Amino acid sequence: MKVLKFGGTSMGSASAIRQVQAIVKSQSEPVVVVVSAVGGITDRLVLAANTAVRGEDYQNIIEEVVKKHATIAQELFEDNGQADLHSSCQDVWQELRQVLKGVYLTRELSTKSYDTIVGVGERLSSVFLSQLIDGAKLFDSRRFIMTEANGKGHHVKYNETMQAIGELKFSLSKVNVFPGFIAANADGENTTLGRGGSDYSAALLAAGLEAKALEIWTDVDGFMSADPRVIKRAYCIEHLSYAEAMELSHFGAKVIYPPTIIPALQKQIPIKVKNTFNASARGTLIDDQKDEQQRVKGLSSIKDVALLTLQGNGMIGITGISMRMFSALASHNINIILISQASSESSISVVLANEDVEVARLALIKEFDKEIARREINGVSIDKDMAVVAIVGEGMKHAPGVSGKLFSDIGRNGINIYAIAQGASELNISFVIHARDLRKCLNVVHESFFLSAYQAIHLYLVGVGTVGKNLLQKITRQSERLLKTEHLSIRLAGLANSKQMIFNDRGLELESALEVLQEASPGTIDQFVEQIIANNHSNSVFVDCTASALVAEKYQRLLENNVSVVTANKIAGSSSYARYEQLKKTARQKGVKYLFETNVGAGLPIINTINGMVQSGDRILQLEAVLSGTLNYIVNNVSADRPLSEVVLEAKELGYSEPDPRIDLKGTDVLRKLLILARESEYALEEQHVEIKPFVPAEYFTDEAVEGFLERLKAYDATFEAMRAEADAKGKVIRYAASLKEGRARVGFIEVDAHHPFYNLADSNNKVILRSDYYYEHPMEIKGYGAGADVTAAGVFADIIKVVNL
Ligand code: ADP
Ligand code: ASP
Ligand code: MG
Repeated sequence: MKVLKFGGTSMGSASAIRQVQAIVKSQSEPVVVVVSAVGGITDRLVLAANTAVRGEDYQNIIEEVVKKHATIAQELFEDNGQADLHSSCQDVWQELRQVLKGVYLTRELSTKSYDTIVGVGERLSSVFLSQLIDGAKLFDSRRFIMTEANGKGHHVKYNETMQAIGELKFSLSKVNVFPGFIAANADGENTTLGRGGSDYSAALLAAGLEAKALEIWTDVDGFMSADPRVIKRAYCIEHLSYAEAMELSHFGAKVIYPPTIIPALQKQIPIKVKNTFNASARGTLIDDQKDEQQRVKGLSSIKDVALLTLQGNGMIGITGISMRMFSALASHNINIILISQASSESSISVVLANEDVEVARLALIKEFDKEIARREINGVSIDKDMAVVAIVGEGMKHAPGVSGKLFSDIGRNGINIYAIAQGASELNISFVIHARDLRKCLNVVHESFFLSAYQAIHLYLVGVGTVGKNLLQKITRQSERLLKTEHLSIRLAGLANSKQMIFNDRGLELESALEVLQEASPGTIDQFVEQIIANNHSNSVFVDCTASALVAEKYQRLLENNVSVVTANKIAGSSSYARYEQLKKTARQKGVKYLFETNVGAGLPIINTINGMVQSGDRILQLEAVLSGTLNYIVNNVSADRPLSEVVLEAKELGYSEPDPRIDLKGTDVLRKLLILARESEYALEEQHVEIKPFVPAEYFTDEAVEGFLERLKAYDATFEAMRAEADAKGKVIRYAASLKEGRARVGFIEVDAHHPFYNLADSNNKVILRSDYYYEHPMEIKGYGAGADVTAAGVFADIIKVVNL
């Protein structure tokens, strides 16, 4: 014999009920079928009761309930059996109307009236199903499930109930239908088992009848790794132990009403959770077995709770404080969801329902009034609108590192934890966060434990010039491979240019993002940044492919809000040292990344290399570098027949130089790069410390327009050529280089002979020579192509991936 329970959605419409009928019919052995009310009806009945007691019009609500049932009956039975159905339901409707009227007139809602009203749904749905299935026998659960008053609700009298159900054994037929949820007390008054209680009814019947199995048929494929309404990628858990299922349901996994597990566990009856609308899916099996190999099985959460803390140094070492605290709360029927006490004993925190918090606070202030007056206890502090998250799995037992991973992933995403509790059974780690962080937290934890091989990055890109566009192309090309082989999903969650912006939580379509952006509504960088912060997504990365000072100003706020920053823009790194240091420090504190490898030498691994040296204890002593691809291209190409002004124009047309080549020719770009390299090498270098000789003297930079400047530059051709020819005559070449040596930082021309490492630096190559404690005689040299959108975008891409590869 099996017990099958069908929930509200399974009973939610005529077609769903037909589905139930088919599942019942397909059973080869006798079955007990427990049903919930038609989906949504219990909520309406609760509303009707609460409306009536306020003396407001509840009739509409009841008419709606009647209509819903009438529609279903009509569809199910057409004409046949309607009369029958009508007569068996008439008295239920009448009773409902009578009780509601009484509540309305007296403005009093007793437990008895309330339970009568809200239990009506199951009485009706069970009639429907029993009439639909040929030969089915209908039972009234109120005759078998006995309760007694307990706090705010009812408690099942277990032994009496088991006995009453046991005696039923002999009167069962092949299909036996029971309403879930409803019960009765010793006086024969209507009671209920609490919201969601039909699961429990079914478990009690299964235990009393010693059923072979208990099946909970619902509207999802089974017990999921997390609430599927919040976590889109939650998957069905194949197997849970009773203890795991109990913990998960206690901490909010609504799919099973928590008390359900106990009768099944006591009688060792396996529970299956199945989908009425996808009956062939395997579902979840809950039994006594433990899976050791998977450490964490699922996560669940509770909202609308408050954290209440009793605090004071006078509590330390005093016995009986917690006993008095819990008794005071218990005497007001306040349910405690979680307890956490610091080992210093100077505070005890409990989590309870938001709605209980005021009563709880007053109860505790009264209980500890003397201690508060003597200042041994500071008082009661309350944080409302919190949430509890629990991760559950028997495999966590003796497996070190679970909480380390849990809390570091949460912290890195900027989620503050208010209290933590871990049972000594090590079955569950639960912690308290602010409710506004709940969705993000569930996503972070779900990803890090269940999809550990899979991570999602939420990317926000600003700047769609040559580098930004190129980056988008690269991401488009690589995203499938990254997903497959690296299990990394890159979601472009936002895209902006200087005027417009677009967002999509689940990721913009990469191929069309640029076009969509052109059509988008206007938005400022401030709005873009605020939206990123409001989105509060896990692994958020802001990518700056602009050269804008306005954008660079936003890094601090982003990092403070746990958004990593990857930038090709040199402005922030080369502004004041204090600002640079502040950004680095914020990123460290917040556990996020601030990466700017492409600021120097585009894709060349220069900053990375310096970081590696410094972190391993090496000291950078000297630094010499050719850092401008554009300027190196120019010095390499000017000759007796090719004047400077012509080569500058060419470099501009080839896309080497900045759109305004004066940025390069002033030496500003090289200066910025030197500042960044020096700072990464642990020198607090400021711009004013650098001796700089511009590539082209300052007097040439007066013209507003680029064209005017290029024209004027011709006047400098001869001087420049003379400088070049002079070096040439000595067998040397000129280079525009940056150096940090013996306390001096310089940017300007140098002449180098054939032995110098810069001598053969062709085209637009860059080269950095690093002398350190470990690399002195034979310095470290990094050389290669150091400019261009392709290598820069590749470098930015590499930084983005570094954000998650911690
Ligand atoms: P029924 O009416 O069948 O009893 P419920 O609404 O009580 O169904 O419970 C099923 C619902 O529980 C699912 O539709 C899902 O939205 C929600 N739920 C929350 N957490 C989980 C979880 N971990 N696994 C499955 N479902 C969950
Ligand atoms: N109908 C009741 C409720 O909605 C009981 C149940 O469905 O389990 O709470
Ligand atoms: Mg339910």
